[in-house]
Amino acid sequence: MRELVSTGCRVLAANGHSDLVWGHLSARDPDGRGVWLKRAGLGFDEIGPDDVQLLSWDGELLAGQGPVHLEHHIHIEVLRARRDVAAVVHSHPEAAVALAATGLALQPVGHEATFFTPPDVPRFDRTGDLIRTSELGAEVAGVIGPHNAALLVNHGVVVAESSVERAVFGAVVLEKACRAQLLAVSAVGADRLIASPDEEALAKRERCYSARQVSLGWQYLVRSLPGPAAAGVTS
Ligand SMILES: [Zn+2]
Repeated sequence: MRELVSTGCRVLAANGHSDLVWGHLSARDPDGRGVWLKRAGLGFDEIGPDDVQLLSWDGELLAGQGPVHLEHHIHIEVLRARRDVAAVVHSHPEAAVALAATGLALQPVGHEATFFTPPDVPRFDRTGDLIRTSELGAEVAGVIGPHNAALLVNHGVVVAESSVERAVFGAVVLEKACRAQLLAVSAVGADRLIASPDEEALAKRERCYSARQVSLGWQYLVRSLPGPAAAGVTS
């Protein structure tokens, strides 16, 4: 898990999710002990296997080194609420934060948004401040509900998926989707946006983001990382 989470962190760094030392990726411990989470104090691009910690379901550090992210509650509460979710990304990517601040629904301007919508990505707007308690983490999990992502208005994104590979892939395409929509809206205004209708978007989700396509996309993201070959290429 340490190898996979650290590889995922580096993929996020290389694809629009770096925000200095903030943002995190987690994975459910296969043995049920808790959550494997990137440590605090380092950027996504700096994370190696030794920088991934094991936290208990109470947020206690069971293994690993360094400080624990204050917002670990997001990961623990989403993973606690959703047995089908195995990995969670929380980050502060610019285009997604900007789109959330417009109040516009996410629309399929290209392929990417169809990974999420329809229906629209839910919004957490109780606070734009840090998710620093288990209660707030549980509220975020409640907003996500059965969906695979939420926008935290004036804050960032959460992507919840069935594997590290899918969570990271989802986070990458979510940011691309938001950027494309902002570009289109900037050019013609929200009222003149041309986007795929729901039926087409759902068909594209099956075709463009089948399990095989997502796996191939993830493998490309890992191959394209700077530096020596990373874990996860063959997964
Ligand atoms: Zn945050």
